Amino acid sequence: MASLYEIPIEKINGIGSKRARLFEKLGIVSVGDLIRYYPRTYENWSVVTDMANAEPGAVCCVRGEVEYSPAARVASGGRWIATTRISDSTGFINLTFFNNPYISTMLRSGKEYLFYGKVSESPGGREMVNPQFQDTGKAIPIKPIYGQVAGLSSKQIESGVRGALAMLPETVKDPIPDDIREKYGLLGLKEALLTIHFPSRTEDIENARRRLIFEELLVLVLGLSSMKNMPDKLTSVTIKKSYTDEFVKLLPFSLTRAQRKAIDDCTADILANGRAMNRLVQGDVGSGKTMVAAAVAYTCIKNGFFFNDTATTEILARQHYENFSELLTPIGVNVRLLVGSMTAKQKREVLSELKSGEVDILVGTHSLISDDVVFSDLGIVITDEQHRFGVRQRATLLAKGASPHLLVMSATPIPRTLALMIYGDLDISIIDELPPGRQTVDTFLIDDTKRQRAYNFLKKNIGEGRQCYIVCPAVENSETGLIGVEEYAADIRKNAFADYRVGVLHGKMRPADKDLVMNDFIAGNIDILVSTTVIEVGVDVPNSTIMMIENAERFGLSQLHQLRGRVGRGRFKSYCILVSDAKGDDANRRLKALCSTNDGFKIADEDLKLRGPGDFFGSRQHGLPELKIADLAENIDVLRDAQSAAKDIMDGYIDSSDPTYRGLRAEVRLLFDNVGTQLN
Ligand code: ADP
Ligand code: MG
Repeated sequence: MASLYEIPIEKINGIGSKRARLFEKLGIVSVGDLIRYYPRTYENWSVVTDMANAEPGAVCCVRGEVEYSPAARVASGGRWIATTRISDSTGFINLTFFNNPYISTMLRSGKEYLFYGKVSESPGGREMVNPQFQDTGKAIPIKPIYGQVAGLSSKQIESGVRGALAMLPETVKDPIPDDIREKYGLLGLKEALLTIHFPSRTEDIENARRRLIFEELLVLVLGLSSMKNMPDKLTSVTIKKSYTDEFVKLLPFSLTRAQRKAIDDCTADILANGRAMNRLVQGDVGSGKTMVAAAVAYTCIKNGFFFNDTATTEILARQHYENFSELLTPIGVNVRLLVGSMTAKQKREVLSELKSGEVDILVGTHSLISDDVVFSDLGIVITDEQHRFGVRQRATLLAKGASPHLLVMSATPIPRTLALMIYGDLDISIIDELPPGRQTVDTFLIDDTKRQRAYNFLKKNIGEGRQCYIVCPAVENSETGLIGVEEYAADIRKNAFADYRVGVLHGKMRPADKDLVMNDFIAGNIDILVSTTVIEVGVDVPNSTIMMIENAERFGLSQLHQLRGRVGRGRFKSYCILVSDAKGDDANRRLKALCSTNDGFKIADEDLKLRGPGDFFGSRQHGLPELKIADLAENIDVLRDAQSAAKDIMDGYIDSSDPTYRGLRAEVRLLFDNVGTQLN
């Protein structure tokens, strides 16, 4: 099987270079990729409905005789239209075909076919428009339906898959060793692959799925466990005393009970003899996680170790840097910043200070991961807003020290099973309390017709000295209806907000330009900041009171909640305005859920229920590789099995001379290669 990933799909009959480009859009480059491109769903042609029972609105399969040849003619507007009627012993259904001039050569009068499609009510009786059809003789009972792109239909993908499957050798080497397959009752690889694409009975699909899900999860678990993604159990980074009380005296406010508890949890971990801390601090936006990080860092520095805070965006990194230096520089702590936009000379300076051990705290973005960043004595790694932080990156950072402690801060609650898998056996502290005086942000859902009123509301707030954000889902307008920040800002500058100071911020800008805009906003020189989600994480401007989000349906609930967390941070009453024209019930329900609660944990829960786990557990948020068939939330039972299987074979797997696991090792490499994840 592994070698099929080296054969380009052009080798399959009927796939030329043009079609290959289309397949590439689906991430399919090799024969192996295509075999692993599983159907999204199936059409069941094996259950034939009597025409009398084919209810309008239902999608069904009927078997009937074509009463007369459907001659195609050109209708008004230049499109081809053809009609005919089919019947069985119980009734008849009218058929209409659009845009198929050859239909009369495909459907013969007096012959019987299977038709599959949606039944609708029309003046002349029930009707199917553009149904699919097959000869009754060679009909496949269950048709796979594949995710498509423009120009490449499910049928074309299906025929490609047939060609790819035909290239499978007589006996396919199964990456899952026989004893594991037996123990967990799993189908062989070849049978599973043939069945998932072309099942002959619906009952068989489940078994094939289970086998493939198991394999994928086993590969994931093996990959994660063999990567140094979590701190070593033992560490020489020991710290004798907590300096939290001293730190507290530096603060202009007192810590909340929950913050203090989280800090104490961390220092207890670090003080404990010889075990490395591996702790996740979860707290809703605004709960004050940065102070927890600062306090823990302080204790580490006072004991002579370095702290390394990785924030995921430059803006955020700079803000942390400023917070920390404001607090700690006066008492002699050397806080330094390392971000991509600095000049080579600036970077060299920081790097040499770092190497010689003069830096106490290094704050940075992903740039910290690069090879030339060498710590003289790394004591603790702290990652903030980790949901943009990949497993590989964390692994690389940890490797820069001799078993440093790890503190991960997150605003997104992570289910225990998933957390265990990503971070290993970690401890969790939850900050379940907001600093006193924090407001709830009133949230409204409006449609396009109320935008003018919303603008007036923004003007009223700006008139009182406040500032606002308007978030759009894209940088440029797109055909799919996404609103882009650039055009949006240009428009409101000319029209609705001609007399106001409007700023623009997005990820494609040069870092230095981003900083200029952000600093202007922080300084109060911008009334309205039109931005993409660059401002989603961590940015803290207490004077901003309105967060208006365009195309709100395009965002996940947790993401919207993060965005909303950018306002309501000061003493002023704050608002979040969600603008959406989405008609679907689903979109509406999701957005209404956001209006009704400010509790991030409830929202994450709701997100999971309403949207399914897709994005929430997606690679984007947790830095995991993209999964093809397994679903971490849904397939908990299989995950458990895969984890226990992984445990059993771990020793043999790690031993690269053991040929039993060669296939699994290849699959692990494949899965993690896609995210560029290094394995050791
Ligand atoms: P988070 O990262 O959890 O979203 P931050 O650490 O950015 O939250 O804190 C949000 C704001 O609350 C910051 O302006 C911070 O200075 C302030 N803050 C943090 N802890 C307290 C506290 N105990 N009392 C008052 N304000 C606090
Ligand atoms: Mg934060």
